[in-house]
Amino acid sequence: MITNTCKLEVSFIDTKFSDLFAMINATTQVKRYATDRITEWKSFSSRYHEENGEYPKLEDIYGFKSIEGLIYHELSKKKTGLSSRSLIATIHSCFLSYKQASKKHSHPNWSDSQPIIMQGKYLNLHHESGNYIVDYPLFSKQYRVEHEITHILRMRLNTKENHHKNILDRILSGEYHLCQSQLKYVKKQNKSHWYFLLAYSHKSEGNPNIDPTRVLGVFMSENVALYASSKRLPMVFKIDGGEIPTFASRQEAIIRSKQRQAACCGDGRIGHGYKTRTKSIYPNKQTLAHFRETINSRYAKALIDFAKTNGFGEVRLEDLKGIKADREFPRFLIHWTYFDLQEKIKNAARKCGIKVTLVSSETIGITCSSCGHIDPNNRDRGVKNRFVCTKCNIVKQTDWNASQVLSSLEI
Ligand SMILES: [Zn+2]
Repeated sequence: MITNTCKLEVSFIDTKFSDLFAMINATTQVKRYATDRITEWKSFSSRYHEENGEYPKLEDIYGFKSIEGLIYHELSKKKTGLSSRSLIATIHSCFLSYKQASKKHSHPNWSDSQPIIMQGKYLNLHHESGNYIVDYPLFSKQYRVEHEITHILRMRLNTKENHHKNILDRILSGEYHLCQSQLKYVKKQNKSHWYFLLAYSHKSEGNPNIDPTRVLGVFMSENVALYASSKRLPMVFKIDGGEIPTFASRQEAIIRSKQRQAACCGDGRIGHGYKTRTKSIYPNKQTLAHFRETINSRYAKALIDFAKTNGFGEVRLEDLKGIKADREFPRFLIHWTYFDLQEKIKNAARKCGIKVTLVSSETIGITCSSCGHIDPNNRDRGVKNRFVCTKCNIVKQTDWNASQVLSSLEI
């Protein structure tokens, strides 16, 4: 199953904005409450473990099997205004974010105005006099009585683009299924927008030409953004890496020079705080981010198209977490560009049923793809991008060699 999201602007039928803002506020409060409650329980649990050598059972203390159940019970008494369906979905999504964050040893932090979460099975999409309408039981019964709301939430979807209509029609026909979605409020340049982030799932496109045993090794480095090859295919796929570092260093230089200017700027920018003083620097940061978005999407698409056309069932990438400093990447590029590119490759591959595997190995760059000999001296330090095996003396391009090693690795 593949899950995708599409973003649609919505307008509301017979619903006051004040009620929607109340639900945004409630969602934020629920997420904060749930996060605090989970944190409390976790720290109690680890203290208990230190003292007693075993973990406490939630059921013995609170009578609930799961922390989510306990939080739901507590919050449903607090009159949040959210329907039980939304409350359950909000607590659950908070729980998942907590789990994700704790893998990185942090806690989720909820800013104000969190998007409203809607359970997929209770979203009712239908066609009404040329419009696509979604109904959802957002408000609790009590809230509806207190605020004299007679309808459940009704949203009219703005479908200017044809591919959106296409998705909605497929949902209506039962080919796609609605999943947990979100309603988001965005204020941009004094204009308010409400967006429905509609999530839907469907079976993968399924490509009969894809052979799961065919593995494409993809190497990323500064010389080449992407270098892909396989033992079984004579041709290679290559994108020169020059574009990213050149653009990035040019932009970095502009930012640095503006920062210098800000240090000795004219009177107009002095005495109005840091923000005014450095204001002119920001457009370049945005340009960088925008550039990354476009270029990485383009690279990822080109790579996956190549894999699809040639029937590769698996794309194998190096896990960049284990990357060594001797690769001589500028640090910001590793985090800033290549991780993002990797994510985009994963997404593009998933859509056409190609598996992506990350291989963490420090020896990829120093292994000979012909004889398998591993030696740090295999890399010719004198000549950039030249690989010379100290055992079989074969001379190759470093990037080609590494992609070959990746593609033929036994994992
Ligand atoms: Zn060799």
